[in-house]
Amino acid sequence: MNESTKTNLMGMTREELAGFFVAHGEKPFRAVQVLKWIHQRGITDFSAMTDLTKGLRIWLSEHAEVRAPEIVMTQAARDGTHKWLLRLDDGNCIETVFIPEEGRGTLCVSSQVGCALDCSFCSTARQGFNRNLTAAEIIGQLHAARGHLQPEEGQSRVVSNVVLMGMGEPLLNFEPVVAAMSLMLEDNAYGLSKRRVTLSTAGVVPALDRLRETGLQVALALSLHAPNDALRDQLVPLNRKYPIADVLAACRRYVGNGGHHSRVTVEYVLLDGINDSQAQARELAALLRDVPCKINLIPFNPFPESRYRRSTGAAIDRFRDILVQAGYTTITRRPRGDDIDAACGQLVGRVEDRSRRELRFARLQGPPGAALS
Ligand code: SAH
Repeated sequence: MNESTKTNLMGMTREELAGFFVAHGEKPFRAVQVLKWIHQRGITDFSAMTDLTKGLRIWLSEHAEVRAPEIVMTQAARDGTHKWLLRLDDGNCIETVFIPEEGRGTLCVSSQVGCALDCSFCSTARQGFNRNLTAAEIIGQLHAARGHLQPEEGQSRVVSNVVLMGMGEPLLNFEPVVAAMSLMLEDNAYGLSKRRVTLSTAGVVPALDRLRETGLQVALALSLHAPNDALRDQLVPLNRKYPIADVLAACRRYVGNGGHHSRVTVEYVLLDGINDSQAQARELAALLRDVPCKINLIPFNPFPESRYRRSTGAAIDRFRDILVQAGYTTITRRPRGDDIDAACGQLVGRVEDRSRRELRFARLQGPPGAALS
């Protein structure tokens, strides 16, 4: 049997895997055994799964496979941040970043090849959108990273936190993202606490409500970046569809009604002279008054041809002080891995843009028909 016709077990949730085994006349508990081999021990070779019967191991090796994206390049930054370039089956590449910190290690995972949202300050946006990742490709980033990182002495978990803050908008790739997150939380797989798995979104309101209905209760981050609709329309074009009031209402429903009473992390990229004034800090403080939240200020990370500058240190401090005085827990994110372009908004992978932005732009800018000649 040829590789591509085999069923890839990498992205299957416990329920899906149990269904797979039952459909082949096996007991559902096989799912738990296989999940542990794949995700806890990092084993992808069925012949090494010694608690399965010999016959089942042979049958699996003929009909199934366990495949993660392949690491084609690794870069390590001076501060210990790692960035991997992972190649997918179709030749597209995505980036995954590991950020070690005192007492924890955070993996920043991509959810799409490219991104369709076109936020004006993000380098992924410049690549356009190619396709959604499968659940196997999303959880495969965690699998690959864990295989690559050796735990240091006394550390049981190298990757203790996962943030869906890499390339793509996770809520526009709903089912695969939910399947991958349930594997992150699953005791027989990665067993991460739901507070340590964070989905970051630009605010896809209906999908936020669907996420609440899944009951997964992962932590939520909102990429806000502006204190009013007029400015946010410019920075995050999705805002024209789902304006701030609707997005914040959905966030309140998410953190309030789920019964877990957490706080949403509001992300705010500070752009020099654009969204970093003291008046805008006060406007933001007023806007978030009824939202249980903490605020994460992110100094802008430049990339080639980005049209923005990072706010000055003094502006960042003033902005933070106003929020702190208004009673908000406010953290300024230290840029990590920026010497290898692994910082927020610098992930690009290698994407073949299927949204044909270049052509659209050429049409907009050139004389009629110029782009086609
Ligand atoms: N689409 C999702 C997840 C990916 S973005 C979202 O919008 O939340 C990950 C975070 O990096 C977001 O908060 C995003 O706004 C921020 N970011 C994007 N470009 C950046 C840049 N150039 N500098 C700093 N942060 C950036």
